[in-house]
Amino acid sequence: MDFSFEVSKKDKKSLARAGVIHTSHGDILTPAFSPVATKASVKTLTPDDLRAAKTQVVLGNTYHLYLKPGTETLKKFGGFGPFMRWHGPTISDSGGYQVSFLRSKSEDGRLVKITDKGAIFSSYLDGSRHLITPEKSMEIQKILAADIIMAFDQPLGSDYSPLKKKEAFERTMKWEERSFSAWKKLKSNQALYGIVQGDIDRSLRRKSLKFVLSLGFPGIAMGGESIGVSPKITAETLDAVADILPLDKPLHALGLGGGPEGIFTAVQRGVDTFDNTSITRMARTGLLFIYPEDGGSISNKFRIDIEKSKFKNARAPISNKCSCYTCKNFSAAYLHHLFLTRELLGLRLASIHNVFFVNDLMERIRNSILEGDFRAFKKYWLNRG
Ligand SMILES: [Zn+2]
Repeated sequence: MDFSFEVSKKDKKSLARAGVIHTSHGDILTPAFSPVATKASVKTLTPDDLRAAKTQVVLGNTYHLYLKPGTETLKKFGGFGPFMRWHGPTISDSGGYQVSFLRSKSEDGRLVKITDKGAIFSSYLDGSRHLITPEKSMEIQKILAADIIMAFDQPLGSDYSPLKKKEAFERTMKWEERSFSAWKKLKSNQALYGIVQGDIDRSLRRKSLKFVLSLGFPGIAMGGESIGVSPKITAETLDAVADILPLDKPLHALGLGGGPEGIFTAVQRGVDTFDNTSITRMARTGLLFIYPEDGGSISNKFRIDIEKSKFKNARAPISNKCSCYTCKNFSAAYLHHLFLTRELLGLRLASIHNVFFVNDLMERIRNSILEGDFRAFKKYWLNRG
């Protein structure tokens, strides 16, 4: 396996750490953000845009890529990275989250049926029926050819009854074990991460992590909705396992939300990489990040709404602090105009800015850890206004 993780420096007072994940497609300097290329595209951005916005790694969705373009096409191209012409490191999720999400959307159970064997679901594209098992997820992910892949799991819905929760939790452990065996047999060059589930139940999270560690996965991912909801719940979820997190394995937070506050919360608790779709989704609705120097704070969630009339004649860029392509070249008034007139260029310029902002924040966090002042840096960002 062409994969390793090293910690370059640890923060003295928290689990925050700066490290390097080595992959056959290059290094990921951590902590790092992975934009999501759901269907082999980070919406509106080319690989050149991504690189210019300091992107190190992108994540593709197994569920979507399996349905379209499908494994036959991706096999011909050698994976979704080469297909989308992204030559850096990649991650794929297992499809478990999407399958679970589909289930919660379906009241009559017709859309997806989950048994111990796997998940049978109908394609949202043409209604055809598909079965994804842990073994199948590993086979698909081998074809997607990401450097980091995920075990097949069934995340717990926060609305699940205690019985349903118990079933899903135990099923996930069995599926992780089967994912692990299938991955071993496939002898791929990919690093398989075990997923820690358990929602907001402390004992379940601990049990899940201990199980993942006992199997010997090369990396760990924190899954479920309690990582994405709010910084407070993210903190509780990660605190539940803080004392048993291994120091030598990379930790990924799946779908980590909460903007800069959520990011600091997670990094402080040992998260090395995370993905999130809302950073680019927000960009496409005109919600753009700003630095503390621009007036960003917890109270305004470090962002502005570019459609607000106060930007109508604003000659300054979205952020004076930001050095992305958008901020170096365009006024906030121009972005405001593009959004009000629904011009497609607005979506791209906004996406470039938000992706750059988060990648740049991660780089600054990393530097603060390396220089031994993560705590002061975090305080500077979060203790304002
Ligand atoms: Zn910018």
